[in-house]
Amino acid sequence: MAKIGINIATGSIQQQEMIVGIDLGTTNSLVAVIHPDSKKPVVLKEFDGNALVPSVIHFGEAAGISVGDDAKKYLIKEPQNTIFSVKRLMGKSYNDVRNTSSFFTYKVIDDNTDSLVKVQAGDKFYSPVELSSLILKELKTRAEHILKTPVNKAVITVPAYFNDSQRQATRDAGKLAGLDVLRIVNEPTAASLAYGIGLNKDEIKTIAVYDLGGGTFDISVLRIAGGIFEVLSTNGDTYLGGDDFDSAIVKHWIFQIGISESELSENKNLSQELRLLAEEAKIYLSSKDSFAGNVIDKKVHLSRIEFEQLIKQFVDKTIVCCKNALSDAGLTVGSIDEIVMVGGSTRVPMVKKMVGDFFQRKINDSLDPDEVVALGAAIQADILAGNNKDLLLLDITPLSLGIETMGGLMDVLMARNSKIPSKASRQYTTQKDGQGSMRIAVYQGERDLVKDNRKLAEFSLSGIPGMPAGLPKVEISFLINADGILQVKAKELRSGVEQTIEVKPQYGLTDDEVEKMLFASITHAKEDIQIRALVEAQTEATILLDTTSQFLKKNRSFLTADELSKTENAMNELTNLLPLANKDSIQTAIEKLNEISRPYAERLMDEAVNKAMKGKVI
Ligand code: AMP
Repeated sequence: MAKIGINIATGSIQQQEMIVGIDLGTTNSLVAVIHPDSKKPVVLKEFDGNALVPSVIHFGEAAGISVGDDAKKYLIKEPQNTIFSVKRLMGKSYNDVRNTSSFFTYKVIDDNTDSLVKVQAGDKFYSPVELSSLILKELKTRAEHILKTPVNKAVITVPAYFNDSQRQATRDAGKLAGLDVLRIVNEPTAASLAYGIGLNKDEIKTIAVYDLGGGTFDISVLRIAGGIFEVLSTNGDTYLGGDDFDSAIVKHWIFQIGISESELSENKNLSQELRLLAEEAKIYLSSKDSFAGNVIDKKVHLSRIEFEQLIKQFVDKTIVCCKNALSDAGLTVGSIDEIVMVGGSTRVPMVKKMVGDFFQRKINDSLDPDEVVALGAAIQADILAGNNKDLLLLDITPLSLGIETMGGLMDVLMARNSKIPSKASRQYTTQKDGQGSMRIAVYQGERDLVKDNRKLAEFSLSGIPGMPAGLPKVEISFLINADGILQVKAKELRSGVEQTIEVKPQYGLTDDEVEKMLFASITHAKEDIQIRALVEAQTEATILLDTTSQFLKKNRSFLTADELSKTENAMNELTNLLPLANKDSIQTAIEKLNEISRPYAERLMDEAVNKAMKGKVI
């Protein structure tokens, strides 16, 4: 199953392992890979055919730690030691989750601060990162067992609304589980990829991803162009899902068979039994018209029409979220090209119908809604493994990316930690009159001088038509596509001349190298700021000397002898100061030269205007 790849940066042969895609869910998690024979994404299933691993961890006294189905059995029996929904706690402080702490049946430590939450199980304390790592470890072990090969690399998905600390926490959990997390991918992006949306580079589309799971609802509006997925808006309800459908059925039956509140609170098993039967009925009604079952010695029944009446209020709520997401994105339903359905609760026919009716489109629901996110993650993993494209690439930009500007300064276009894909552009101009080409050198690093950073590429934009210095508008654009390939484009906007190169760095820098580069930027920060200020002053001086001497060449005869000698003296003074590297004295000399030249430059300008106006009828 191992693959051989050629690293095009070094020419060396690399052994490639399988990279898995992981959907680390609030309720369930699962792993998918690209099948080596069919080349299609498939979720990994145990011999019992089950792909879903409940995201539940049980800390037993004698039995030790269990994860998944085994742990789920303890949810009712030992709620204080059985951790579920840990995803809701990722990257959160206690203050963040204070209002929802009653939702958790285990102890979320209240230390009244903004520090990250911890969970107590038995006499130990665990961070959400540690807890998630236990789930990921279980997934890794399962995958290794099924694939019969070591699994050390993964792509993990997160909700589009996850902030940087939540993404970082997810990455850390992967690391702790012994996984090299090559990319954190947004769940809606993965779901779209599973449907093949966004795989074609020429495709421009706006899509809505409707994700209704057991306990959460998310709607994301994405714009896809050139293989880049941009999140235009997200909306949702973190406490709305299939569990609410189950509760509504339970309530309905309690009324139907006449169970009292006290009977229920006294008999915990009864409420659990009702809940499980309600879920069974709900699932049954996704394909049948009516359900009948028994609770204790009583018969319960539910028709699809009754069920739909019970859940309409919840589905209505999701539609309101869809409306809000559209208006936040500044769009109307007509602008949505595709709707992708995710999450087990989108199997309910009424949900499908209401979503299709709202968007006035056919929905994408041919794939298993529990599997789509993991399948998309596997596609992303395959791209990163180099099986679709040339070998390579990074995930988020670990270091800043920029170009060299005058004086060897680093001008950052894309700051470190920018998400991939990403784009940025800035305009530059020429230094010399008639300059026909411009050298563009691309660097990676945090230092102010390019010589201290790492050079990635260099190319030249030629064919710029002759123009006075400062007139050409050269736009430099950086674009890191979904595969992490940096494309640098230089375009002279007045003439349309352009040049593009692709920068293919090696398979990322090692963590050590990145750390070293960051550390160097901190230890040299003060020195770098001083050098930057000096180089900027020297650059300004060089440009001023250049333009002044051009001006003198053309206009010598219009200047008085006094003006000429004063200007030449000031120019000499500035030229002599340049190598002495004192920023303040260079700045003073620049000011002086400007003071001297300003009056005659203005005078000449006025004369030129007067001449141009003469004889013209207004
Ligand atoms: P998820 O969080 O995406 O795994 O979704 C789980 C939710 O989907 C639970 O509330 C399940 O009861 C619900 N679910 C799974 N299968 C079906 C089905 N066939 N019909 C309706 N709901 C379902």
